[in-house]
Amino acid sequence: MHELIDRISDERGDLPVRDPATGKTIATVRTYGVDEVAGIIRDADVARGAWAARTAKERARVLRAWFDLIMDRQEQLARIITAECGKPIAEARGEVAYGAAFIEWFAEEAKRAYGETIPTFADGKRVLTIKQPVGTCAAITPWNFPVAMITRKVGPALAAGCAIVLKPAEATPLSALALELLAREAGVPEALFRVVPASEPSAIGELFCSDPLIRKLSFTGSTRVGQILMAQSGQNITRLSLELGGNAPFIVFDDADIDAAVEGAMASKYRNAGQTCVCANRFLVQDGIHDAFVAKLTERVAALKVAPGAQEGSQIGPLINAAGREKVASLLDAAVARGARVMTGGHRSDLGENFFEPTVLVDVAPDIDIVRQEIFGPVAPVIRFRDEAEAIRIANDTPYGLAAYFYARDLGRVWRVTEALEYGMVAANDGLLSTEVAPFGGIKQSGLGREGSRHGLDEYLELKYCLMGGLSA
Ligand code: NAP
Repeated sequence: MHELIDRISDERGDLPVRDPATGKTIATVRTYGVDEVAGIIRDADVARGAWAARTAKERARVLRAWFDLIMDRQEQLARIITAECGKPIAEARGEVAYGAAFIEWFAEEAKRAYGETIPTFADGKRVLTIKQPVGTCAAITPWNFPVAMITRKVGPALAAGCAIVLKPAEATPLSALALELLAREAGVPEALFRVVPASEPSAIGELFCSDPLIRKLSFTGSTRVGQILMAQSGQNITRLSLELGGNAPFIVFDDADIDAAVEGAMASKYRNAGQTCVCANRFLVQDGIHDAFVAKLTERVAALKVAPGAQEGSQIGPLINAAGREKVASLLDAAVARGARVMTGGHRSDLGENFFEPTVLVDVAPDIDIVRQEIFGPVAPVIRFRDEAEAIRIANDTPYGLAAYFYARDLGRVWRVTEALEYGMVAANDGLLSTEVAPFGGIKQSGLGREGSRHGLDEYLELKYCLMGGLSA
Protein backbone atom coordinates (compact mmCIF):
# COMPACT_ATOMS: atom_id res chain seq x y z
CA MET A 1 0.00 0.00 0.00
CA HIS A 2 2.80 2.39 0.90
CA GLU A 3 6.27 2.60 2.34
CA LEU A 4 5.43 2.23 6.05
CA ILE A 5 3.23 -0.84 5.51
CA ASP A 6 5.90 -2.45 3.32
CA ARG A 7 8.43 -2.00 6.10
CA ILE A 8 6.31 -3.43 8.89
CA SER A 9 4.56 -6.31 7.18
CA ASP A 10 6.12 -9.74 7.10
CA GLU A 11 5.16 -12.03 4.24
CA ARG A 12 5.96 -15.07 6.35
CA GLY A 13 3.91 -13.71 9.25
CA ASP A 14 1.11 -15.75 10.80
CA LEU A 15 -1.35 -12.93 11.60
CA PRO A 16 -3.38 -11.59 8.67
CA VAL A 17 -4.69 -8.06 9.17
CA ARG A 18 -8.05 -7.41 7.53
CA ASP A 19 -9.80 -4.29 6.32
CA PRO A 20 -13.18 -4.28 8.09
CA ALA A 21 -14.76 -2.45 5.14
CA THR A 22 -13.97 -5.21 2.65
CA GLY A 23 -12.77 -8.24 4.61
CA LYS A 24 -9.62 -8.27 2.45
CA THR A 25 -6.20 -8.95 3.94
CA ILE A 26 -4.07 -5.79 3.94
CA ALA A 27 -0.86 -7.31 5.32
CA THR A 28 0.46 -10.08 7.51
CA VAL A 29 2.60 -9.66 10.60
CA ARG A 30 4.37 -12.12 12.85
CA THR A 31 3.15 -12.92 16.34
CA TYR A 32 5.16 -13.59 19.49
CA GLY A 33 4.74 -16.45 21.93
CA VAL A 34 5.13 -16.34 25.69
CA ASP A 35 8.79 -17.48 25.78
CA GLU A 36 9.83 -14.89 23.20
CA VAL A 37 8.00 -12.13 25.05
CA ALA A 38 9.66 -13.18 28.32
CA GLY A 39 13.03 -12.69 26.59
CA ILE A 40 11.93 -9.30 25.26
CA ILE A 41 10.95 -8.27 28.80
CA ARG A 42 14.43 -9.26 30.06
CA ASP A 43 16.09 -7.20 27.33
CA ALA A 44 13.84 -4.24 28.10
CA ASP A 45 14.73 -4.47 31.75
CA VAL A 46 18.43 -4.30 30.88
CA ALA A 47 17.91 -1.35 28.52
CA ARG A 48 16.01 0.78 31.01
CA GLY A 49 19.01 1.50 33.27
CA ALA A 50 20.88 3.53 30.67
CA TRP A 51 17.68 5.24 29.55
CA ALA A 52 16.71 6.25 33.08
CA ALA A 53 20.24 7.57 33.62
CA ARG A 54 19.87 10.07 30.78
CA THR A 55 18.70 13.51 31.78
CA ALA A 56 15.03 14.31 31.35
CA LYS A 57 16.05 16.84 28.73
CA GLU A 58 17.84 14.18 26.69
CA ARG A 59 14.85 11.84 26.86
CA ALA A 60 12.60 14.74 25.91
CA ARG A 61 14.71 15.42 22.81
CA VAL A 62 14.24 11.83 21.60
CA LEU A 63 10.49 11.94 22.28
CA ARG A 64 10.18 15.25 20.46
CA ALA A 65 11.93 13.69 17.44
CA TRP A 66 9.43 10.82 17.59
CA PHE A 67 6.53 13.29 17.67
CA ASP A 68 7.95 15.09 14.61
CA LEU A 69 8.34 11.82 12.68
CA ILE A 70 4.76 10.81 13.48
CA MET A 71 3.44 14.16 12.27
CA ASP A 72 5.63 13.96 9.13
CA ARG A 73 3.90 10.66 8.34
CA GLN A 74 0.45 11.73 9.49
CA GLU A 75 -1.19 10.81 6.21
CA GLN A 76 0.43 7.38 5.95
CA LEU A 77 -0.41 6.56 9.55
CA ALA A 78 -3.99 7.74 9.06
CA ARG A 79 -4.33 5.44 6.06
CA ILE A 80 -3.06 2.52 8.14
CA ILE A 81 -5.59 3.28 10.91
CA THR A 82 -8.45 3.44 8.42
CA ALA A 83 -7.33 0.28 6.66
CA GLU A 84 -7.16 -1.84 9.81
CA CYS A 85 -9.87 -0.36 12.03
CA GLY A 86 -12.26 1.13 9.47
CA LYS A 87 -12.70 4.65 10.83
CA PRO A 88 -13.30 7.51 8.37
CA ILE A 89 -10.04 8.93 7.05
CA ALA A 90 -10.76 12.44 8.40
CA GLU A 91 -11.11 10.95 11.90
CA ALA A 92 -7.97 8.87 11.41
CA ARG A 93 -5.98 12.02 10.57
CA GLY A 94 -7.37 13.55 13.74
CA GLU A 95 -6.37 10.48 15.75
CA VAL A 96 -2.76 10.71 14.56
CA ALA A 97 -2.53 14.35 15.63
CA TYR A 98 -4.29 13.61 18.93
CA GLY A 99 -2.10 10.56 19.57
CA ALA A 100 1.11 12.40 18.70
CA ALA A 101 0.15 15.22 21.06
CA PHE A 102 0.67 12.85 24.00
CA ILE A 103 4.29 12.27 22.94
CA GLU A 104 4.86 16.02 22.65
CA TRP A 105 3.14 16.68 25.97
CA PHE A 106 5.07 14.07 27.92
CA ALA A 107 8.37 15.09 26.31
CA GLU A 108 7.73 18.44 27.96
CA GLU A 109 6.37 17.06 31.24
CA ALA A 110 9.41 14.78 31.72
CA LYS A 111 11.40 17.88 32.62
CA ARG A 112 8.98 18.75 35.41
CA ALA A 113 8.90 15.51 37.44
CA TYR A 114 9.60 17.51 40.57
CA GLY A 115 10.16 16.14 44.03
CA GLU A 116 9.58 18.33 47.08
CA THR A 117 11.05 19.42 50.38
CA ILE A 118 8.74 19.09 53.36
CA PRO A 119 9.09 21.22 56.51
CA THR A 120 10.87 19.01 59.00
CA PHE A 121 9.32 17.30 62.02
CA ALA A 122 12.52 17.18 64.15
CA ASP A 123 15.85 18.94 64.73
CA GLY A 124 18.74 17.58 62.66
CA LYS A 125 16.44 15.95 60.11
CA ARG A 126 15.27 17.02 56.71
CA VAL A 127 12.42 15.51 54.71
CA LEU A 128 12.37 15.31 50.92
CA THR A 129 10.72 13.36 48.14
CA ILE A 130 12.06 12.37 44.74
CA LYS A 131 10.28 10.76 41.81
CA GLN A 132 11.84 7.78 40.08
CA PRO A 133 10.76 5.62 37.13
CA VAL A 134 8.57 2.64 38.03
CA GLY A 135 10.78 0.29 36.00
CA THR A 136 9.85 -2.04 33.18
CA CYS A 137 6.21 -1.72 32.16
CA ALA A 138 3.78 -3.72 30.05
CA ALA A 139 0.80 -2.45 28.10
CA ILE A 140 -2.19 -4.01 26.36
CA THR A 141 -4.28 -1.88 24.00
CA PRO A 142 -7.58 -2.11 22.07
CA TRP A 143 -8.38 -1.71 18.37
CA ASN A 144 -10.62 1.37 18.44
CA PHE A 145 -7.80 3.95 18.70
CA PRO A 146 -4.82 1.99 17.37
CA VAL A 147 -2.44 4.97 17.63
CA ALA A 148 -3.73 7.12 20.48
CA MET A 149 -4.24 4.32 23.00
CA ILE A 150 -0.56 3.47 22.53
CA THR A 151 0.96 6.93 22.71
CA ARG A 152 -0.99 7.70 25.90
CA LYS A 153 0.97 4.89 27.58
CA VAL A 154 4.32 4.77 25.81
CA GLY A 155 4.79 8.57 25.86
CA PRO A 156 4.69 8.91 29.67
CA ALA A 157 6.49 5.60 30.26
CA LEU A 158 9.51 6.63 28.16
CA ALA A 159 9.40 10.20 29.44
CA ALA A 160 9.55 8.93 33.02
CA GLY A 161 12.58 6.72 32.24
CA CYS A 162 10.80 3.35 32.00
CA ALA A 163 11.00 0.57 29.41
CA ILE A 164 7.74 -0.73 27.94
CA VAL A 165 6.59 -3.87 26.12
CA LEU A 166 3.23 -3.51 24.38
CA LYS A 167 0.74 -6.02 23.05
CA PRO A 168 -1.58 -4.34 20.53
CA ALA A 169 -5.04 -5.62 19.63
CA GLU A 170 -4.99 -8.54 17.23
CA ALA A 171 -7.14 -6.56 14.76
CA THR A 172 -4.83 -3.53 14.63
CA PRO A 173 -1.13 -4.41 14.96
CA LEU A 174 -0.01 -2.31 11.96
CA SER A 175 -0.40 1.11 13.58
CA ALA A 176 1.50 -0.16 16.62
CA LEU A 177 4.34 -1.55 14.54
CA ALA A 178 4.52 1.68 12.52
CA LEU A 179 4.82 3.68 15.75
CA GLU A 180 7.58 1.36 16.95
CA LEU A 181 9.48 1.81 13.68
CA LEU A 182 9.27 5.60 13.93
CA ALA A 183 10.34 5.50 17.58
CA ARG A 184 13.43 3.58 16.49
CA GLU A 185 14.17 6.19 13.82
CA ALA A 186 13.80 8.93 16.42
CA GLY A 187 16.45 7.33 18.62
CA VAL A 188 14.45 5.25 21.11
CA PRO A 189 16.77 2.32 21.89
CA GLU A 190 15.51 -0.91 20.31
CA ALA A 191 15.01 -2.95 23.46
CA LEU A 192 13.37 -0.11 25.37
CA PHE A 193 10.04 -0.09 23.55
CA ARG A 194 8.87 -3.28 21.87
CA VAL A 195 5.58 -4.12 20.19
CA VAL A 196 4.59 -7.77 20.39
CA PRO A 197 1.53 -8.78 18.37
CA ALA A 198 0.16 -12.01 19.78
CA SER A 199 -2.59 -14.44 18.94
CA GLU A 200 -2.94 -15.74 22.50
CA PRO A 201 -3.82 -12.61 24.45
CA SER A 202 -4.65 -14.40 27.70
CA ALA A 203 -1.23 -16.10 27.86
CA ILE A 204 0.55 -12.77 27.30
CA GLY A 205 -1.71 -11.13 29.89
CA GLU A 206 -0.76 -13.83 32.40
CA LEU A 207 2.92 -13.33 31.64
CA PHE A 208 2.65 -9.56 32.11
CA CYS A 209 1.01 -10.13 35.50
CA SER A 210 3.33 -12.89 36.71
CA ASP A 211 6.78 -11.83 35.46
CA PRO A 212 8.50 -10.14 38.43
CA LEU A 213 10.42 -7.86 36.06
CA ILE A 214 7.14 -6.16 35.11
CA ARG A 215 6.50 -3.46 37.70
CA LYS A 216 3.47 -1.95 36.07
CA LEU A 217 0.74 -2.98 33.66
CA SER A 218 -1.35 -0.44 31.80
CA PHE A 219 -4.44 -1.82 30.10
CA THR A 220 -7.09 -0.23 27.91
CA GLY A 221 -10.02 -2.39 26.87
CA SER A 222 -13.15 -4.01 28.22
CA THR A 223 -14.10 -4.16 31.88
CA ARG A 224 -14.30 -7.96 31.56
CA VAL A 225 -10.62 -8.28 30.63
CA GLY A 226 -9.68 -5.56 33.13
CA GLN A 227 -11.20 -7.70 35.88
CA ILE A 228 -9.15 -10.71 34.78
CA LEU A 229 -5.93 -8.69 34.76
CA MET A 230 -6.68 -7.12 38.14
CA ALA A 231 -7.18 -10.54 39.69
CA GLN A 232 -4.00 -11.88 38.08
CA SER A 233 -1.86 -8.92 39.07
CA GLY A 234 -2.52 -9.63 42.75
CA GLN A 235 0.22 -12.25 42.81
CA ASN A 236 3.06 -9.71 42.37
CA ILE A 237 1.10 -6.64 43.50
CA THR A 238 1.85 -5.28 40.04
CA ARG A 239 0.91 -1.62 39.71
CA LEU A 240 -2.10 -1.23 37.45
CA SER A 241 -3.69 1.40 35.26
CA LEU A 242 -7.04 0.34 33.82
CA GLU A 243 -8.93 2.32 31.17
CA LEU A 244 -12.11 0.26 30.77
CA GLY A 245 -15.59 0.38 29.36
CA GLY A 246 -18.11 3.17 29.78
CA ASN A 247 -21.83 3.91 29.60
CA ALA A 248 -21.83 7.65 29.03
CA PRO A 249 -25.09 9.53 29.62
CA PHE A 250 -25.77 12.58 27.45
CA ILE A 251 -28.35 14.72 29.24
CA VAL A 252 -30.27 17.55 27.58
CA PHE A 253 -32.16 19.81 29.97
CA ASP A 254 -35.07 22.05 29.00
CA ASP A 255 -32.89 25.17 29.22
CA ALA A 256 -30.21 23.80 26.83
CA ASP A 257 -29.17 25.49 23.59
CA ILE A 258 -30.81 22.87 21.41
CA ASP A 259 -28.64 23.37 18.31
CA ALA A 260 -25.48 23.18 20.38
CA ALA A 261 -26.81 20.02 22.05
CA VAL A 262 -27.50 18.38 18.69
CA GLU A 263 -24.02 19.36 17.49
CA GLY A 264 -22.47 17.86 20.63
CA ALA A 265 -24.60 14.73 20.30
CA MET A 266 -23.36 14.14 16.74
CA ALA A 267 -19.73 14.49 17.80
CA SER A 268 -20.08 12.41 20.93
CA LYS A 269 -22.24 9.59 19.56
CA TYR A 270 -21.22 8.99 15.96
CA ARG A 271 -17.43 9.33 16.08
CA ASN A 272 -15.80 6.07 14.99
CA ALA A 273 -19.33 4.75 14.27
CA GLY A 274 -20.04 4.84 18.00
CA GLN A 275 -17.04 2.70 18.89
CA THR A 276 -15.33 4.80 21.53
CA CYS A 277 -15.33 4.28 25.28
CA VAL A 278 -16.51 7.88 25.79
CA CYS A 279 -19.25 7.80 23.14
CA ALA A 280 -22.64 8.89 24.44
CA ASN A 281 -24.32 5.54 25.11
CA ARG A 282 -27.74 6.87 26.16
CA PHE A 283 -29.49 10.20 25.71
CA LEU A 284 -31.62 11.54 28.55
CA VAL A 285 -33.82 14.35 27.28
CA GLN A 286 -36.18 16.46 29.39
CA ASP A 287 -39.91 16.50 28.56
CA GLY A 288 -40.13 20.11 27.40
CA ILE A 289 -37.36 19.86 24.81
CA HIS A 290 -37.63 16.17 23.93
CA ASP A 291 -39.58 16.28 20.68
CA ALA A 292 -37.68 19.24 19.23
CA PHE A 293 -34.31 17.68 20.10
CA VAL A 294 -35.28 14.30 18.64
CA ALA A 295 -36.53 15.91 15.41
CA LYS A 296 -33.30 17.85 14.87
CA LEU A 297 -31.09 14.92 15.84
CA THR A 298 -32.97 12.57 13.52
CA GLU A 299 -32.58 14.97 10.61
CA ARG A 300 -28.81 15.23 11.14
CA VAL A 301 -28.33 11.50 11.65
CA ALA A 302 -30.32 10.61 8.53
CA ALA A 303 -27.95 12.84 6.51
CA LEU A 304 -24.74 11.13 7.70
CA LYS A 305 -22.69 9.64 4.89
CA VAL A 306 -22.11 5.92 5.41
CA ALA A 307 -19.14 4.79 3.32
CA PRO A 308 -15.86 2.89 3.57
CA GLY A 309 -13.53 4.93 5.78
CA ALA A 310 -10.99 5.41 3.00
CA GLN A 311 -13.53 7.33 0.91
CA GLU A 312 -13.18 11.09 1.46
CA GLY A 313 -16.35 12.45 3.04
CA SER A 314 -17.18 9.20 4.83
CA GLN A 315 -18.74 9.92 8.23
CA ILE A 316 -19.71 6.42 9.32
CA GLY A 317 -17.39 3.56 8.41
CA PRO A 318 -17.81 -0.15 9.13
CA LEU A 319 -17.92 -1.68 12.58
CA ILE A 320 -14.81 -3.60 13.50
CA ASN A 321 -16.22 -7.06 12.76
CA ALA A 322 -19.35 -9.19 12.40
CA ALA A 323 -19.54 -9.84 16.14
CA GLY A 324 -19.63 -6.08 16.79
CA ARG A 325 -22.38 -5.63 14.22
CA GLU A 326 -24.39 -8.55 15.64
CA LYS A 327 -24.20 -7.10 19.14
CA VAL A 328 -25.60 -3.78 17.91
CA ALA A 329 -28.36 -5.50 15.93
CA SER A 330 -29.45 -7.72 18.82
CA LEU A 331 -29.49 -4.85 21.36
CA LEU A 332 -31.61 -2.86 18.91
CA ASP A 333 -34.04 -5.71 18.24
CA ALA A 334 -34.49 -6.32 21.96
CA ALA A 335 -35.16 -2.60 22.52
CA VAL A 336 -37.79 -2.53 19.77
CA ALA A 337 -39.40 -5.62 21.28
CA ARG A 338 -39.69 -3.60 24.54
CA GLY A 339 -41.49 -0.74 22.79
CA ALA A 340 -38.71 1.50 21.46
CA ARG A 341 -39.37 3.21 18.10
CA VAL A 342 -36.82 3.67 15.31
CA MET A 343 -36.75 7.27 14.02
CA THR A 344 -34.04 6.65 11.39
CA GLY A 345 -31.71 3.77 10.47
CA GLY A 346 -32.31 0.59 12.41
CA HIS A 347 -30.72 -2.00 10.17
CA ARG A 348 -27.60 -3.21 8.42
CA SER A 349 -26.38 -1.17 5.49
CA ASP A 350 -26.12 -2.60 1.98
CA LEU A 351 -22.50 -1.47 1.82
CA GLY A 352 -21.12 -4.63 3.37
CA GLU A 353 -21.23 -7.12 6.19
CA ASN A 354 -19.91 -4.82 8.93
CA PHE A 355 -21.81 -1.64 8.09
CA PHE A 356 -24.75 -0.49 10.22
CA GLU A 357 -27.02 2.46 9.49
CA PRO A 358 -26.77 5.33 12.00
CA THR A 359 -29.86 5.08 14.14
CA VAL A 360 -32.01 7.12 16.52
CA LEU A 361 -34.31 5.24 18.89
CA VAL A 362 -37.01 6.86 21.08
CA ASP A 363 -39.39 5.70 23.83
CA VAL A 364 -36.55 3.76 25.39
CA ALA A 365 -37.06 2.44 28.94
CA PRO A 366 -34.12 3.21 31.26
CA ASP A 367 -33.73 -0.41 32.39
CA ILE A 368 -33.18 -2.31 29.14
CA ASP A 369 -29.92 -3.75 27.79
CA ILE A 370 -29.31 -1.15 25.09
CA VAL A 371 -28.89 1.51 27.78
CA ARG A 372 -27.25 -0.79 30.34
CA GLN A 373 -24.53 -2.25 28.12
CA GLU A 374 -21.93 -0.53 25.95
CA ILE A 375 -23.51 -0.43 22.47
CA PHE A 376 -20.27 0.27 20.59
CA GLY A 377 -22.21 1.13 17.46
CA PRO A 378 -24.00 4.08 15.79
CA VAL A 379 -27.27 3.86 17.74
CA ALA A 380 -28.60 6.70 19.91
CA PRO A 381 -31.29 5.50 22.36
CA VAL A 382 -33.33 8.40 23.80
CA ILE A 383 -34.93 8.22 27.26
CA ARG A 384 -37.41 10.91 28.35
CA PHE A 385 -37.16 12.38 31.88
CA ARG A 386 -39.14 14.85 34.01
CA ASP A 387 -36.74 16.67 36.33
CA GLU A 388 -33.10 17.09 37.36
CA ALA A 389 -33.28 14.55 40.19
CA GLU A 390 -34.64 11.88 37.87
CA ALA A 391 -31.94 12.58 35.26
CA ILE A 392 -29.17 12.27 37.86
CA ARG A 393 -30.64 9.06 39.25
CA ILE A 394 -30.86 7.41 35.81
CA ALA A 395 -27.41 8.71 34.76
CA ASN A 396 -25.70 7.31 37.87
CA ASP A 397 -27.56 3.99 37.83
CA THR A 398 -24.73 2.04 36.19
CA PRO A 399 -21.60 0.25 37.35
CA TYR A 400 -19.60 2.39 34.90
CA GLY A 401 -18.19 5.86 35.52
CA LEU A 402 -16.07 7.07 32.61
CA ALA A 403 -17.51 10.11 30.78
CA ALA A 404 -20.77 12.04 31.07
CA TYR A 405 -22.13 14.98 29.06
CA PHE A 406 -24.93 17.41 29.67
CA TYR A 407 -26.37 20.55 28.13
CA ALA A 408 -27.92 23.27 30.31
CA ARG A 409 -27.57 27.04 30.63
CA ASP A 410 -28.65 27.68 34.20
CA LEU A 411 -25.39 28.24 36.08
CA GLY A 412 -26.62 26.69 39.31
CA ARG A 413 -27.75 23.59 37.46
CA VAL A 414 -24.43 23.35 35.61
CA TRP A 415 -22.57 23.18 38.93
CA ARG A 416 -25.07 20.90 40.66
CA VAL A 417 -25.10 18.39 37.84
CA THR A 418 -21.32 18.48 37.33
CA GLU A 419 -20.85 17.61 40.99
CA ALA A 420 -23.64 15.02 41.16
CA LEU A 421 -22.58 12.91 38.18
CA GLU A 422 -20.49 9.95 39.38
CA TYR A 423 -18.02 9.95 36.51
CA GLY A 424 -14.28 10.52 36.07
CA MET A 425 -14.95 13.09 33.34
CA VAL A 426 -17.92 15.43 32.95
CA ALA A 427 -18.45 17.82 30.02
CA ALA A 428 -21.00 20.63 30.28
CA ASN A 429 -22.15 22.03 26.94
CA ASP A 430 -19.59 20.07 24.90
CA GLY A 431 -19.60 16.69 23.20
CA LEU A 432 -15.86 16.10 22.99
CA LEU A 433 -13.56 16.09 25.99
CA SER A 434 -10.38 14.16 25.16
CA THR A 435 -7.18 16.18 25.11
CA GLU A 436 -3.62 15.49 26.17
CA VAL A 437 -3.69 18.37 28.65
CA ALA A 438 -6.50 16.94 30.84
CA PRO A 439 -6.63 13.78 32.98
CA PHE A 440 -8.55 11.03 31.15
CA GLY A 441 -9.92 8.13 33.16
CA GLY A 442 -12.83 6.56 34.94
CA ILE A 443 -14.18 5.59 38.34
CA LYS A 444 -16.23 2.55 39.44
CA GLN A 445 -15.92 -0.28 36.89
CA SER A 446 -14.49 2.08 34.27
CA GLY A 447 -11.03 1.81 35.72
CA LEU A 448 -8.13 3.08 37.76
CA GLY A 449 -5.62 5.83 37.06
CA ARG A 450 -5.42 8.72 34.62
CA GLU A 451 -3.83 9.22 31.22
CA GLY A 452 -2.71 12.60 29.88
CA SER A 453 -2.09 15.82 31.84
CA ARG A 454 0.61 16.12 34.49
CA HIS A 455 -1.10 13.28 36.38
CA GLY A 456 -0.41 10.90 33.49
CA LEU A 457 3.32 11.03 34.19
CA ASP A 458 2.84 10.08 37.85
CA GLU A 459 1.38 6.76 36.70
CA TYR A 460 4.93 5.79 35.63
CA LEU A 461 6.77 7.26 38.62
CA GLU A 462 7.33 6.05 42.16
CA LEU A 463 7.38 8.64 44.93
CA LYS A 464 10.33 8.06 47.26
CA TYR A 465 10.45 9.63 50.72
CA CYS A 466 14.05 10.50 51.67
CA LEU A 467 14.85 11.28 55.29
CA MET A 468 18.19 13.07 55.86
CA GLY A 469 19.14 12.60 59.51
CA GLY A 470 22.21 13.38 61.63
CA LEU A 471 22.36 16.98 60.43
CA SER A 472 22.77 18.62 63.87
CA ALA A 473 26.20 20.17 64.57
P1 NAP B 1 -10.91 -6.20 24.85
O1 NAP B 1 -11.59 -7.35 24.24
O2 NAP B 1 -10.88 -6.09 26.32
O3 NAP B 1 -9.42 -6.21 24.26
C1 NAP B 1 -8.48 -5.23 24.62
C2 NAP B 1 -7.09 -5.84 24.56
O4 NAP B 1 -7.00 -6.89 25.51
C3 NAP B 1 -6.75 -6.45 23.21
O5 NAP B 1 -5.38 -6.24 22.96
C4 NAP B 1 -7.04 -7.94 23.45
O6 NAP B 1 -6.31 -8.80 22.60
C5 NAP B 1 -6.56 -8.08 24.87
N1 NAP B 1 -7.10 -9.23 25.59
C6 NAP B 1 -8.23 -9.95 25.34
N2 NAP B 1 -8.38 -10.91 26.28
C7 NAP B 1 -7.32 -10.82 27.13
C8 NAP B 1 -6.90 -11.54 28.29
N3 NAP B 1 -7.62 -12.56 28.80
N4 NAP B 1 -5.76 -11.15 28.91
C9 NAP B 1 -5.04 -10.12 28.44
N5 NAP B 1 -5.37 -9.41 27.33
C10 NAP B 1 -6.51 -9.74 26.70
O7 NAP B 1 -11.51 -4.82 24.33
P2 NAP B 1 -11.73 -4.35 22.82
O8 NAP B 1 -12.95 -5.00 22.31
O9 NAP B 1 -10.47 -4.47 22.04
O10 NAP B 1 -11.94 -2.78 23.03
C11 NAP B 1 -13.16 -2.25 23.32
C12 NAP B 1 -13.28 -1.97 24.81
O11 NAP B 1 -12.23 -1.08 25.21
C13 NAP B 1 -14.56 -1.24 25.15
O12 NAP B 1 -15.09 -1.77 26.34
C14 NAP B 1 -14.10 0.20 25.35
O13 NAP B 1 -14.93 0.96 26.17
C15 NAP B 1 -12.76 -0.01 25.96
N6 NAP B 1 -11.92 1.19 25.80
C16 NAP B 1 -11.67 1.95 26.90
C17 NAP B 1 -10.93 3.12 26.77
C18 NAP B 1 -10.65 3.99 27.97
O14 NAP B 1 -9.78 4.85 27.85
N7 NAP B 1 -11.33 3.81 29.10
C19 NAP B 1 -10.42 3.48 25.52
C20 NAP B 1 -10.69 2.68 24.43
C21 NAP B 1 -11.45 1.52 24.59
P3 NAP B 1 -6.98 -9.33 21.23
O15 NAP B 1 -7.19 -8.14 20.40
O16 NAP B 1 -5.98 -10.24 20.69
O17 NAP B 1 -8.27 -9.98 21.64
